[in-house]
Amino acid sequence: MRKKVLVLGANFGGLTAALTIKHELQGDVDVTVVSDRDYFLFNPSLIWLPFGKREAKDITFKVGPTFETGDVDFEESAATKMDPDAKTVTLANGKVLNYDYLIIATGTRNRDEAIEGFSENSNTITTLDSAIKTGEAWKKFLEKPGDIVIGATQGASCFGAAYEFLFNTSYQLKKAGIKKDVKLTYLTAEPFLGHFGIGGLPHGDSLLGMFLKKEHIGSHLNKSIATIEEGMITTTDGDKLENAFSMIIPPFSGQNFLKEVDGLADANGFVKVKDTYQSEKWDDVYAVGLAAAVTAPWQTPTPVGVPKTGFPTEQMAHVAALNIAQQIQGELPTNHKDFGDIKAVCVMDAGNNGVLILADKMLPPRKHGVLIPGPQNHLFKLGFEKYFLWKMRNGKVMLP
Ligand SMILES: Cc1cc2nc3c(=O)[nH]c(=O)nc-3n(C[C@H](O)[C@H](O)[C@H](O)COP(=O)(O)OP(=O)(O)OC[C@H]3O[C@@H](n4cnc5c(N)ncnc54)[C@H](O)[C@@H]3O)c2cc1C
Repeated sequence: MRKKVLVLGANFGGLTAALTIKHELQGDVDVTVVSDRDYFLFNPSLIWLPFGKREAKDITFKVGPTFETGDVDFEESAATKMDPDAKTVTLANGKVLNYDYLIIATGTRNRDEAIEGFSENSNTITTLDSAIKTGEAWKKFLEKPGDIVIGATQGASCFGAAYEFLFNTSYQLKKAGIKKDVKLTYLTAEPFLGHFGIGGLPHGDSLLGMFLKKEHIGSHLNKSIATIEEGMITTTDGDKLENAFSMIIPPFSGQNFLKEVDGLADANGFVKVKDTYQSEKWDDVYAVGLAAAVTAPWQTPTPVGVPKTGFPTEQMAHVAALNIAQQIQGELPTNHKDFGDIKAVCVMDAGNNGVLILADKMLPPRKHGVLIPGPQNHLFKLGFEKYFLWKMRNGKVMLP
C-alpha cells in the first residue's frame, strides 16, 4: 500500500517539502498538505506593503492549483491537535487525518503576550493582516507626522525585517519630504548593531553604524520593552520613547497545538529536532523552518532569538523530504544538516539601497562571512521576489 505523508503548512517549508517528496519518489506516495489558509505568502515583501509599494495580490498566490499540478491533495483548515502515537492529526473542520510520516511546517505566531500593550497599541509586519493594518497607521502618520520608533523586542529573532523596515521608513520619509522633521529611532534587543540574531558578521557593527549615522537614526541597544501604550514605548530600564508611529517585531512562538504534545516541543512551542529534522522523540515526525527549535550558541544580556530565514527553511525541507523518501524505501535516513552549518544567504533591503549578507554558516564559529552594501542589492531583492514567487507557484522546488 502507498505510504501517506501529511504536511502541515503550505508556505516556504511545507510547499517545498510536499513537492520534493513527490519528486523523490516519482509520485509513488500519497501526499496531503493541510494549511489554515489557501495562499502562499512571500513574507520578505511585507516590509514594503505598509508603504503601498506592494499589495497583498502582488506577494501571494493560491496554492490549490500548484498542489493539483503536483498531484498533492490540499485541505484548507488549521491543525488543532496531533497524536504522534496514534499517527493522527485533528483539524479545525473536524476531520481526523492519519499518516505514515508527518512534516510540521506551521511557522510561528506572534508572542503578543510577552509585552504589555503589544496587541492593542503596536504595529507590526509579521503577518499579512498586521502589515495591512500597519499601512493604515502609516497613512495616518503622514497626515500628522511625529517621531518614529522601529524595533525588535526581547526574544525577537526576525531582526533583518526590523532593519529593512527601518531603512525603508527613512527612505519613505525622504520621499514625503519630512525626513528632517522626524526623529527616527531603532530600538533592539541586540547587544550590538548588525547582530541580526546570528551573532553578527565581521565589520557588521561598523557598517550598520554607518548606515544609521548617514540616515540620522538614533539607536537603543540591548533593550527590553516593558509596555507599549498609545504614543509611548517604555523599556524595562525606564527609557520612554514618545512616537507618532512605531513598528515592533515581537518574539515568536510555535503553534499552540504543538505545545500540547508531551515531549514534542520546547517551552515556546518549537519542535525539538535532530539534524535529520526528525523529532527527537518520534522518527516519523519531522519539523522544518520556523516551526523547528534552534538553540542559539550564545547568551546575550537581553534574549535574542535565531532567525530561521527562507534559505535554511528550504534546506531543512529538502533534508526532511529526502529522509522520508529513504524511510519509505525501507532505508535509514542518511541526510544530516545541522541548522548552524547551513549557509547564510540574505539581502537586507534599505529602500533604494541594501546589504548582501553571506556566510559559510548560519551560526558561529564561521570561516567566512561578508556584508556587501550597495544599490544592486535592492535591485536583486526586487528580482528575487519575482523569481521566488514564480518558482513556488510553478512547483519548481528543486531549483535554487
Ligand atoms: C517581515 C518578514 C520579513 C522576512 N524577510 C526575509 C528575508 O528577507 N529573507 C529571508 O530569507 N527570510 C525572510 N523572512 C523569513 C521567512 O519568511 C521565513 O523563513 C519563512 O516564511 C519560513 O517558512 P515556514 O514555512 O517555516 O513558515 P511560514 O512561512 O510562516 O509558513 C507557515 C505555514 O503554516 C500554516 N499554518 C500555521 N498554523 C497552522 C496550523 N495550525 N495548521 C495548519 N497550517 C498552519 C500557515 O498558513 C503557513 O502556510 C521574513 C519574515 C518576515 C515575517
